[in-house]
Amino acid sequence: MTYRCLGCSETFEIADLHYVCPRCHQVLLIEDLRSDRLKDLPASTWHQIFDYRKMLTDPALKGIYRYHEFIGPMLPLDSIVYLGEGHTPMIQGNARLRETVGLNLYFKNDGQNPSASFKDRGMASAFSYLSYMIGTGQIRDILAICASTGDTSAAAALYAAYLQKDIKSAVLLPRGKVTPQQLAQPLGSGARVFEVPGVFDDCMKVVEKLSEDYQVALLNSKNAWRILGQESYAYEIAQDFEYDLTDVVVVVPIGNAGNITAVMRGFLKFLDAGIITCLPKIIGVQSHHANPVYRYYREPEPAKRRFEPVTVQPSVAQAAMIGNPVSMPRVIQLVEQYKRNASEANVFFVEVSEQDIMDWELRANRNGHIACTHGGECLAGLIQALASGYVRSDETAILDSTAHALKFAGFQDLYFENRFPPEFGVKPDAALQNAPIRVSPQGVKRLPEAGNPLEGREFEIFVDHVAQDIAGALGLKKR
Ligand SMILES: *Cc1c(COP(=O)(O)O)cnc(C)c1O
Ligand SMILES: [Zn+2]
Repeated sequence: MTYRCLGCSETFEIADLHYVCPRCHQVLLIEDLRSDRLKDLPASTWHQIFDYRKMLTDPALKGIYRYHEFIGPMLPLDSIVYLGEGHTPMIQGNARLRETVGLNLYFKNDGQNPSASFKDRGMASAFSYLSYMIGTGQIRDILAICASTGDTSAAAALYAAYLQKDIKSAVLLPRGKVTPQQLAQPLGSGARVFEVPGVFDDCMKVVEKLSEDYQVALLNSKNAWRILGQESYAYEIAQDFEYDLTDVVVVVPIGNAGNITAVMRGFLKFLDAGIITCLPKIIGVQSHHANPVYRYYREPEPAKRRFEPVTVQPSVAQAAMIGNPVSMPRVIQLVEQYKRNASEANVFFVEVSEQDIMDWELRANRNGHIACTHGGECLAGLIQALASGYVRSDETAILDSTAHALKFAGFQDLYFENRFPPEFGVKPDAALQNAPIRVSPQGVKRLPEAGNPLEGREFEIFVDHVAQDIAGALGLKKR
């Protein structure tokens, strides 16, 4: 395995921690210099290997390392850190949602990872590598550090807590720009948490400075090990579809663009090894409040495209509220590679409004899903892609619900209570609003309290009154 620079193509040994090219400062990807050997096995044997590993109980192979040969073949199994990441369920939309949207769709619930977002996939890889380096005495006493829109720090702090004392963690968050749940996570895992003024892009600059000047391990998706682990998302989809990805469309929200990089790269690596025979379509989605990647690809003429960072506006897809995505050079290269491997256009970018993100998140969840705002963003993006003719109604869409709905429940509250600050531009659709109904029974002398219950006749009257009120509100018929 080697780091390869996306700028000057130089390679660097993985025995050193690199985040950017020491020569030209471009981002890196990790390559397997002997990946051709993966083609020595016929596809049917690979299928059998992966399917067989499903049945094993070896912790090292239970998570993303089911695809060990593609994620980190040099890592011995005993350095692998497994906290339950990967193999997240794909849940088919019910008939009602499929009909509303106009095609067959599944949510792949990456919110069901241990820290409740897909970031755990990348952290399992990055921390397994660190654990290997510690185990072999190549590094000692690591401070894992990251900037985060919330989920990266939750994941990094969790894995670091598991690997203490060898690893400690510190996270930088934009003050007031992560949800209370996301702030609680690294605090609970014992990380040092720094709230920095500004937005994510400002935190990222500080972390980059720290990683240049001090001895720290950078855990942002600039770290190429993160990308490697996140490729597992693509491998799982391939396996779940029994390696036939004809007419499959994968919809991914874009922030720092590490995730879409990993998803494209995963499919390309499986294609190259012959494990799949065609690439699924990719739809990258951004909010109109943080849309630098969309804007770049809006220019149809590749030669005329110019990347320009944008100033972000507040977004409910807060984990993707990034104006200057670190992985942009990776995306540009992989989109080219992706297109070279198909006969027609197969990567598209769409933008959606904050309103659409909220409305579609709530619609999905009212049909039995647990989508976060970014899952809503994917669904809104799919609607947009259908309207633009990028997706056909006979295709099957996989929507990346990148985190658990609970992490972003505060935005749901703002919607239900019609309290969105004007800069979001979100007004609730009354049909999607919901609120608790306060029960205050009349004609009851005293109400029960914790430590002071009602008894006897008083309690019976209370139960009767409350039951009557609820039955009235629900319009229940007497039996
Ligand atoms: C990090 C994150 C994203 C954005 O992923 P990138 O790799 O930064 O593009 C989207 N959704 C959630 C929930 C995230 O945590
Ligand atoms: Zn370089």
